[in-house]
Amino acid sequence: MNNTREVEVVVIGAGQAGLSSAYHLRRTGFEPERDFVVLDHSPGPGGAWQFRWPSLTYGKVHGMHSLPGMELTDADPARPSSQVVAEYFTAYESAFGLRVRRPVDVRAVRDGGEGGRLLVETSDGTWSTRTLINATGTWDRPFWPRYPGQETFRGRQLHTARYPGPEAFAGRRVVVVGGGASGTQHLMELAPYAAATTWVTRRPPVFREGPFTEDVGRAAVALVEERVRRGLPPRSVVSVTGLPLDDAVRQAIADGVLDRQPMFDRITPDGVQWRDGRRVEADVILWATGFRPAVDHLAPLKLREPGGGIRAEGTRAVADPRIHLVGYGPSASTIGANRAGRAAVRDIRRLSAAEPARAAQRADTARPTVSVAA
Ligand SMILES: Cc1cc2nc3c(=O)[nH]c(=O)nc-3n(C[C@H](O)[C@H](O)[C@H](O)COP(=O)(O)OP(=O)(O)OC[C@H]3O[C@@H](n4cnc5c(N)ncnc54)[C@H](O)[C@@H]3O)c2cc1C
Repeated sequence: MNNTREVEVVVIGAGQAGLSSAYHLRRTGFEPERDFVVLDHSPGPGGAWQFRWPSLTYGKVHGMHSLPGMELTDADPARPSSQVVAEYFTAYESAFGLRVRRPVDVRAVRDGGEGGRLLVETSDGTWSTRTLINATGTWDRPFWPRYPGQETFRGRQLHTARYPGPEAFAGRRVVVVGGGASGTQHLMELAPYAAATTWVTRRPPVFREGPFTEDVGRAAVALVEERVRRGLPPRSVVSVTGLPLDDAVRQAIADGVLDRQPMFDRITPDGVQWRDGRRVEADVILWATGFRPAVDHLAPLKLREPGGGIRAEGTRAVADPRIHLVGYGPSASTIGANRAGRAAVRDIRRLSAAEPARAAQRADTARPTVSVAA
């Protein structure tokens, strides 16, 4: 028996990027569950935010943009962002009737459906779709660099993705690896608890003086966009904007908490070591070394370029115009994800307008249950 279900669009991921896409699909007459489905393998609403460490309060995030059509207002800055965002996304999904299916894990997307359709294989059966919006973020692919001797380390190694907050490191000697926002935040949090901290990064960190203006943001996005256009692996937008130099960071530099050392050359059973013989003993190595796009399920489509990335023009994959990447590369921020969701849907609508019968059917039967703001 063939249990494959047919839709026009499958959205994978219900983080900022997937929900923005679903909102715009809905607004333009695509009906949830009939014309499109949103699939997400996490247990609840919130995208990756639901997994962020409890001490990452809403007041500490760098600027979270509301989803389109419903503002996030009056959030208590002292509450964990994981809770604030999960509650906001719950309300959002319900207000716009987005009917996210979870937990549904997408295992592979393949060519070969009837009429040029894609087959989306999941833990809950197969979907056949005309187009795909991939909004799977990066959280599921933490990046761990490899260093000689790593497997001999007798202490604990963990990645930012499993960072539980600073209390767990009381009295420990911690080496933090990585020059991004997470690394510096970990160090500043750990300082009052840990017996000692050491900060190592491959390149000297770049601190950004002055406010984060729209021009700074645009220039950073343009840099990442250029890489994606050339089929190179995207760097995070944050990695090209530099680290904000606010009062807390200035104080941490003055206190010696953010005293960067060059990257060590090897890991020993009881710490790390540099080529010149210098050593630091450690109980914990905390890898704040970032994330990569979680796109393994797209592997059967062979979208990757020799450079290692997926080439995209706007949100559309150059190698396969049925695929849109939202929240990927230049749109991997809350504001970028909002815009990319809208752009992807505009593109999909343009394609589907070329098929008048289906478009007319949608216009006849689409009955939004809530009024959706522009
Ligand atoms: C520590 C940290 C702090 C950040 N702070 C900020 C900030 O302050 N401001 C900002 O703009 N950006 C910030 N970012 C960037 C942030 O990740 C993005 O802005 C945005 O939240 C990402 O949204 P997304 O929808 O692309 O991804 P996610 O929120 O990661 O959502 C992806 C969803 O896809 C699902 N998924 C993944 N793979 C599959 C699969 N195979 N099958 C089914 N479902 C799948 C996941 O369950 C998840 O729900 C931060 C990132 C990190 C790591």
